[in-house]
Amino acid sequence: MNANLDVVPMQEWINTDGKPLIIAGPCSAETEEQVLETANRIKAEGYAHIMRAGVWKPRTRPGSFEGMGEAALPWLVEAKKQTGLPLAVEVATPEHIELALKYGVDVLWVGARTTVNPFNVQEIADALKGVDIPVLVKNPVNPDLALWVGAFERLQGAGIKKLGAIHRGFSNAQETKYRNSPMWQMAVEMKRLFPQLPIIGDPSHMAGKRALLMELSQRILDLNYDGMIIETHRRPDEAWSDASQQLTPEALGEMLRELEVRKANYGVEFTDELAALRAKIDNIDRELMEVLAARMAVVEKLGEYKRDNNVAVLQLDRWKQVHTDRAKQASGLGLYPEFVEELFKLVHLESIRKQTEVMHTIAQ
Ligand code: PEP
Ligand code: MN
Repeated sequence: MNANLDVVPMQEWINTDGKPLIIAGPCSAETEEQVLETANRIKAEGYAHIMRAGVWKPRTRPGSFEGMGEAALPWLVEAKKQTGLPLAVEVATPEHIELALKYGVDVLWVGARTTVNPFNVQEIADALKGVDIPVLVKNPVNPDLALWVGAFERLQGAGIKKLGAIHRGFSNAQETKYRNSPMWQMAVEMKRLFPQLPIIGDPSHMAGKRALLMELSQRILDLNYDGMIIETHRRPDEAWSDASQQLTPEALGEMLRELEVRKANYGVEFTDELAALRAKIDNIDRELMEVLAARMAVVEKLGEYKRDNNVAVLQLDRWKQVHTDRAKQASGLGLYPEFVEELFKLVHLESIRKQTEVMHTIAQ
């Protein structure tokens, strides 16, 4: 891909003393008390450089909380007054931009569901012509690098130079461990294309649940990202959106203190070919395991069917057919047939084990 961006270094619009940028705040601004209490508790912890809050919430399905809209902006202004923390808000339309600017929001971000739509992004870019404000762009929900790059090009076309990328992961067709799979190589590619473009990890939206935040955040730091945006709420379980992935401001402080920041080779790994290839392999291996897990889930259903209909687990004819079919497919894919044969022997053994286990459980 041929692309070029003229980017103002991040430290010129937010001073983090060389440390990773931390943007913290609730998924959504809900009430004045919630915003102010969360903001003050974040401030007291001392880790945040910017406070985030969603005011207009793009929800996958209607009926969920869609944000307080303009009513929430004065609460954010008050939070900034009390804490001194600059504000970051998601904008999706020219109207959002007009309101955010009117209330003095400091940093804007474009959400993953907006980045996917070039019409939307162009409207946003047009509304920002002549405005000097940092704009962070989340990756599109689908793993399409050109779409992400295109959003930056549209903003750059409008004269925006204070730019940053937010890597929040990509939605999955299959159930996986993550709400949005990181697919690290996408971010690595982004950094290779635009080494000067800051990249910020969003472990909250990758994880979808608190238990995964630590490992994802460490991975983000290991890859020398320029910062993280993490959701935090005064009472996470009561949050009106994304309750299961938010942490209290204090729990976030504790997590951040436990993380290791790798200063020595800051920014180096992204330009390293070996690291890029390894990131690709890590991701492919993860996908391999997800596909294996999906296969085992079907095998389990098969086991239930056999159990309920009194069919023996091992069907030799079927196994022979699988065997020859897979070997044929292997050579079509340029894979060594003996390798695939061995691999499927193992897969089959595991399938038999799984079905035998199901046989011995009682039908629900
Ligand atoms: C958010 O940051 O709250 C949000 C809506 O994220 P995303 O656009 O990544 O889904
Ligand atoms: Mn959220």
